[in-house]
Amino acid sequence: MIDLTIDPSGTARILFDDPGEKVNILTEASLSELSEILSRLESACRDRTLRCVVIASAKKGVFLAGADVKAFVGVSLTGDAMGAARMAAVGQRLFSRIAALPAPVVAAINGACLGGGLELALACTGRIAADSLDVTLGLPEVRLGLIPGWGGTQRLPRLVGLTRALDLILTSRSLTGRQALRLGLVDAVVPAEGLESAALSEALRLAAGGGARRPAWPLLDRLPGGYALTFAVARRKASAQAKGRYPAPLAAIESIRHGLSAGIEKGLSREAELVGRLLVGEVSRNLVGIFLASRAATSSSSSASGGAPASIDRIGVVGAGTMGGGIAAVAAMSGIAVRLKDVNAEALSRGMKQVAGAAADAARKGRLPRHEVERRAALAGAGVDWSGFSRCGLVLEAVVEDLEVKRQVLGDVEKLTGPEAIFATNTSSLPVAAIAQGAARPGRVLGLHFFNPAEKMPLVEVVRAPATEDSAVEAVVALARRMGKTPVVVKDTPGFIVNRILMPYLSGAMERLGAGLDIGAIDAEMVRFGMPMGPFALLDRIGIDVAAKVADVLKAAFPSTRAEASAGPALLHAMMQAGLLGAKAGRGFYRYRGKDGSRNAGSSPELAPLVRTTYRPLAREGPGATGVADMLVDVMVNEAALLLEERAVESPRVIDLAMVLGAGFPPFRGGLLRHADAVGRGVIADRLASRGLTPAATLSREGRFYP
Ligand code: NAD
Repeated sequence: MIDLTIDPSGTARILFDDPGEKVNILTEASLSELSEILSRLESACRDRTLRCVVIASAKKGVFLAGADVKAFVGVSLTGDAMGAARMAAVGQRLFSRIAALPAPVVAAINGACLGGGLELALACTGRIAADSLDVTLGLPEVRLGLIPGWGGTQRLPRLVGLTRALDLILTSRSLTGRQALRLGLVDAVVPAEGLESAALSEALRLAAGGGARRPAWPLLDRLPGGYALTFAVARRKASAQAKGRYPAPLAAIESIRHGLSAGIEKGLSREAELVGRLLVGEVSRNLVGIFLASRAATSSSSSASGGAPASIDRIGVVGAGTMGGGIAAVAAMSGIAVRLKDVNAEALSRGMKQVAGAAADAARKGRLPRHEVERRAALAGAGVDWSGFSRCGLVLEAVVEDLEVKRQVLGDVEKLTGPEAIFATNTSSLPVAAIAQGAARPGRVLGLHFFNPAEKMPLVEVVRAPATEDSAVEAVVALARRMGKTPVVVKDTPGFIVNRILMPYLSGAMERLGAGLDIGAIDAEMVRFGMPMGPFALLDRIGIDVAAKVADVLKAAFPSTRAEASAGPALLHAMMQAGLLGAKAGRGFYRYRGKDGSRNAGSSPELAPLVRTTYRPLAREGPGATGVADMLVDVMVNEAALLLEERAVESPRVIDLAMVLGAGFPPFRGGLLRHADAVGRGVIADRLASRGLTPAATLSREGRFYP
C-alpha cells in the first residue's frame, strides 16, 4: 500500500495508496511498511544518496484519514493501559524517525489529513496543501475521548504556538487548506494540479539549505508568563465544559504542558501514557462506538441490485415554513438545486431568507470560498406555482401536519412528476402508509424526517412504509448523506425512532410533576445525567402544541401502561388551551423573556393548577428527585427494546446513533442501549416491574443488546 521510489538524483517519493480501501488509513500493516521504507531512506542518507523526500497520496481527495479507529475497540477491550501506551509509542517512534531524517521531507496534502495523518505531516519538515475543497486538516481525537497519540500534542504547539494548538486539539475542529495556511499549519496552498511539483520544489529548496518556514505566533505565546495564563484559562474552560464526564480535554492539556516544560522526549512518553489510559476507558470506548455507527450510516453503500443508488440533483419542497425553509437551505448549501413552493408568498420569502442565512453562515465559517457559497445559494428558487417541479427527482412535503392536506399535495405532485420521482413526507406523527393511501405510485413514497432546526440537526429518519421500494430508500439515504446528514432507516412505526422513544420519557417526566416533584428539580436531574437540557425545557423548545400532537398519536397507538403516563397528553392539551405553548409563546412549563427565549427562573404560574387538575387521582410523593433519572431513562430503554423486537430498526447501534444525534442522549454513555447494557437489562426490567410497568420481553431475558 505504500510505494517508495528514489530517482537517480536522490529525490524520493513515498506514495500512500491502499488499493482495497476508499481512503488511506494508518493500520498496523501500513505502519510496519512505513518502518521498512524509513529504514531504506535512513540507509540512503548514510550513503549520502538521498536529497529529499516528498510524501503524497494517490487517493483522490484523501491524504491520510488517520489511524484505524476500528482497531481502537480491540485495544480498548484488552483493558491493558500499558499495552495501549506501548502501541502509541510504536507510532511515535516511527514519526520521530521521519522528523530525524537528515534529508528534508515535505508532505503534499491533497485531501483529508486527519488525526494520525496530520501527526505524520507534522513530523515532516514542510507541508504544502492543494487549493481544493477536499483538503481538511485536524486532530479529532478529543471528540473520540482520546488525545493525539503520535506526537500531535508535542509537535503542533511547537509549530503553530500554544494558543492555536490548544484550540485545534480541544475543539477537534478541522481546517480548510487556506485556514491552515493562516495559522501556519501548512506552508503554502497551491493549485491542485501543481501540488506534487510544488512539494518537490519546496523539498529541494530545503535540501539546498533553505530554512523551514515557521509562522509568527500570537503575542500571548511569546510573552513571558503567557503559557501559565493560557494553560490556566484552558484548564478552567475544559473542566467547565467536560463536567467531569470527559477526561480527554484535560489529558490533552496535561500532555502539551508536560512536553513544553520537560522537552519533547518526556512529552512523548507522557502523551503515550495518557493515550493508553484513555484508550482503555469506558468514555472513549463509548465515543468510538458512536463514531463508528455514524461513519457506517454516512459512508456510501451500493444498492440492493449492486449498482449505485439513483442520484438526485434537483428537489422540490412543498411548504416553506420552519422546516421547509430549513431543508431548502440545507439542500442548496449541499449543491442540490431546490424549488420551494408554498400557498403563502410571505412564507416563501421567509424560506428564501433561511437560505440566505445559511449562505451567510457558510461564508462566515470559511469552509467554502465565497463564490461557491453564492453559486450554491443561487440553486434555490421559490414560487407559489408548480414551475420546476416536473424535473425534480424528489419532492418533499413539509406542509401543515394534516393528513388530508398532505394527501392532496401528494396527488398534485404525482400528476406533475415522472414515474421514478420520489415523494417524501416530513411528517412527525402521521403514518407514511396513510399519506400514501390512494397514491398512484406508493412504491415511491416514504418518510424523510428532519429535526428542527434542519440546518443544525445532523439526524434524519428515513421511513420505509410497507409498499416503499428499496430503490427509493437507497436513493433517499444517498441524498441525505449528500446533504451532510446522518440517515437512519426505520419502519413506518408511530413516532419513528426518536419521538417514539422520547415521548414515554417526556410523559414520565410530566407524571413525576403530577406526583409533586418540581420541574426545575427534574430538569436538573436529567442534566446531571448528561442530557443537554431537561425534559420540560425540551418540551417548551419543541412547542407544546407539536408535542401534544405526537403524544396523542403515540397514546392512540400504544397501551397506556407502557408509558405510565396516560395523563401526559391531557396536561399538554390543557396547557395549549391556556396558551402555554412553550418558548415560542414566551410561556410553557417555564416563563421566557425576550425574543431569544432566554429562560426566566421560575415555572409558569399558570401551570400548577393545570397539573393539579390533570393528575389529581395520583398519590403524591415527597419533593425529592432521587431516582428520577433512572425512572425516565428506563422507560426509554423499554421502548427501544420494543422497537428492536418489532424489527423496526436494523440494530441497537441505529437506535443509539439516533438518540445521541436526534435527542442529545449523552454521547459519553455511548447511547441508550449501551447505557442499558452497562446498567444491566435485568436491573431495568425489575425497576420497571416494581413501578407496575410491563418490561419488554428482551429486557427480561439474560444477555446484552451489544455482543
Ligand atoms: P409550518 O407551519 O411552519 O409550515 C407549514 C407551511 O406549509 C406554511 O408555510 C404553510 O403556508 C404551508 N402550506 C400549508 N398548506 C400548503 C399547501 N397545500 N401547499 C403548499 N404549502 C402549504 O410547519 P413546520 O413546523 O415547518 O412543519 C411542517 C411539517 O414538518 C409538519 O408535517 C410537521 O409535523 C413536520 N415537522 C415539524 C418539526 C418542527 O419542529 N417544527 C420537526 C419535524 C417535522
